[in-house]
Amino acid sequence: MHQQDDRPPDRAGPVAPRMAQRLEVHGTVQGVGFRPFVHRLATGLGLDGCVRNDDGRVVVEAAGPADALATLATRLRSDAPPHARVTAVHATGPPSPPPSPGSGFRVETSARRAAGGSRPEVREIPPDLATCPACLAELLDPRDRRFRYPFLTCTDCGPRATIIDGLPYDRERTTMRAFPMCADCAREYADPADRRFHAEPIACPHCGPRLTWWSTDVDPAAPAQAHGEDALDAAVTLIRAGGIAAVKGLGGYQLVCDAASGTAVARLRARKHRPAKPFAVMVADLDAARLLAQVDTAEAELLTGAARPVVLLDAGRRPGPALVSAPTLADEVTAGAPRLGVFLPTTPLHHLLLAEVGGPLVVTSGNRADEPIAIADADARRHLGPVADGFLGHDRAIRSRYDDSVARVVAGRATVIRRARGYAPCPLPLPHAASRPVLAVGGQLKHTFTLAAGPTAVVGPHTGDLASPPTLAAFERTLAQLSAVVGITPEVVAHDLHPDYLSTRHAERFAADRRIPVQHHHAHAASCAAEHGVTGRFIGVVYDGLGLGDDGTLWGGEVFVADLAAYRRVARFARAPLPGGAAAIRRPARMALGYLFGAEQLGDGDQDGDLGRWTGGPHLAAPLLDRLPAGEAAVIARMIHRRVNTPVASSAGRLFDAAAALLGLRDDITYEGEAALALEAAAGSHDGDGSHDGDVGGELPWRLAREGELLVYDPRPTLRALLDGLADRVDVGILAARFHTTITAVTVALCEDVSRRHGLRTVCLSGGVLHNQRLAAGVVGALADAGLEPLLNERVPAGDGGLSYGQAAVAAARMTGR
Ligand SMILES: [Zn+2]
Ligand SMILES: [Zn+2]
Repeated sequence: MHQQDDRPPDRAGPVAPRMAQRLEVHGTVQGVGFRPFVHRLATGLGLDGCVRNDDGRVVVEAAGPADALATLATRLRSDAPPHARVTAVHATGPPSPPPSPGSGFRVETSARRAAGGSRPEVREIPPDLATCPACLAELLDPRDRRFRYPFLTCTDCGPRATIIDGLPYDRERTTMRAFPMCADCAREYADPADRRFHAEPIACPHCGPRLTWWSTDVDPAAPAQAHGEDALDAAVTLIRAGGIAAVKGLGGYQLVCDAASGTAVARLRARKHRPAKPFAVMVADLDAARLLAQVDTAEAELLTGAARPVVLLDAGRRPGPALVSAPTLADEVTAGAPRLGVFLPTTPLHHLLLAEVGGPLVVTSGNRADEPIAIADADARRHLGPVADGFLGHDRAIRSRYDDSVARVVAGRATVIRRARGYAPCPLPLPHAASRPVLAVGGQLKHTFTLAAGPTAVVGPHTGDLASPPTLAAFERTLAQLSAVVGITPEVVAHDLHPDYLSTRHAERFAADRRIPVQHHHAHAASCAAEHGVTGRFIGVVYDGLGLGDDGTLWGGEVFVADLAAYRRVARFARAPLPGGAAAIRRPARMALGYLFGAEQLGDGDQDGDLGRWTGGPHLAAPLLDRLPAGEAAVIARMIHRRVNTPVASSAGRLFDAAAALLGLRDDITYEGEAALALEAAAGSHDGDGSHDGDVGGELPWRLAREGELLVYDPRPTLRALLDGLADRVDVGILAARFHTTITAVTVALCEDVSRRHGLRTVCLSGGVLHNQRLAAGVVGALADAGLEPLLNERVPAGDGGLSYGQAAVAAARMTGR
């Protein structure tokens, strides 16, 4: 008979000496099927003992032959379950009393405090995991006792971070404690051979959560109108008829409607006050996604992974006409944006909804405008009542708010744009360990915060724009919860320089000597460097909307020589006024006037590029000026001339806005980045690589000027060339493509100059403008061609969602004196 490798030899040779060992396993080891895995492993090795969750780690006590114990210690790492992340296995000596021979191996549910051993610095919470294939098969199997049960899960899938009250991860410390297990579930839970062995959210139709349905035309306080399958039916009927359903998802309510119905999507836009920002669609599986857009291998991996983010796919790459069965999406879904956000079901409930409705669904966050996503049933019915026609809820509480994540593939690498459900709060490494626990409070828009201790950073989930009392309250609540669960009590706070950010105000609760201010764009650059483990000096290129510089002006087109602790500004984009301040952010046409009338005068040689001289007589900017309401241009010219309410900024984001307005693509915007997205969409499939004149996507004119220590990109020749092109009736798409190519060429020139002067090759690229895929891919390719080593954010967003992680990395580096 074949002798199994993991069995100790029973006959051959001398009997191995019996030993006992206590092992602590650190990392993401709770809520990922780790104890069942240890049970299988130890039983297979013939060991006696037990495994339990203890605080944030797993503790194994085992006794048996020495070689079997050694194999156990090795395999705890090498054979760990797919969603586990083992960072360390420490042997802490023999347990007392040692497990007695022949007593077998068991999983201990009670998480008694272990005697001895060190408390881990950071307790790691597992993220929520999308329904696994085995559970999906049961969901669709009429013979299974969980057939069509919307809450089935196992050790490999289901809710985690969203239902956890505290660690160790056991059912009694999750919102599942409200559902005592039935006899069948209890048997599966206790059976080492069952795939639900110690699956904490285990449930079935007899004992688990159930669906509820309310329509919005009854008193919100009234009891549910339907339950279970009837509730699902009601939602399906509503969605099929073009209605909007509020559906309780994993980390919050979602708003759902038929993606093929223009009327339904238009109604959702009107009610949610979201006129133009693209919606994401959910489809049943990868095949269904491929009917909407071409999906490459990396994108397929991202779509089907357990995190299940919304994946931004190129909407221009539609499948060929052979696919006659391709579903039609209403034009209102993307509203002309170049990319389509697609995601696959995250819960059994989503699978059931999609199967019943039969086509793609618009699935978007359950909030209005900038409010936080609703998680409590009563809140949802109050806030979403005016938006939704009915509520498909259930009686399992959501403990923590986790919006859907957004990601995409850039240059072959998965890159997160909004980090929430499925990713957060997975820890990220810090290159320099934090010597004291840190809270990094982030910025203002697309807000996140980060808690860090030692070499570990925990980035909280995206909470939206921190601009109103409800989002501030959501941030503070999430912070208090996560801080308690991961066990980090911050002693030091890192914050932005901007005094008016609500996050900075929050930081002021700490004593002055415990506050570490971090410049906005240094934090961006550091976020990229830190996630790639760059500890030395690097070139930081940050293309962003606006952030406060250390000279009191607004920055956003910056090149630094930096490390994680400090930076020096070595190049920037030219400044232009923001007429009316924040008003110019919402109205790119104003920003265009800012460049026309007030672009920074650099050097003296280039009178042709001086846009300010075009204000009199017939001029190239006539198409823009003619579009504007009578008098607007004159008023703004006066404001700029007299320097009234016209802060200046060296912002790449604002330059993209101005270019979009000059090309007639957007005069006003309704969401951040809309004008830049329109510019990228217009560039479309025009060749952006053309490096010689005459190519469709070739460069426009540009120049660099030296201002003291700084090299400055002067965009006036570029903007003028856009207007010349328009006057010559060059296609707007070609001009948009050339604009992207120009910014790429400028970036390479700036980096080459800095590289030569400072002997650096690593370029850390960050900032919200890098969410422009055409620009990001173009710049990365061109820098690599120039012999430099470009890095982009991947695990945290390049935009302000990644700011808090960068602040934490800077604070940690400064505390260690690096
Ligand atoms: Zn499962
Ligand atoms: Zn049950």
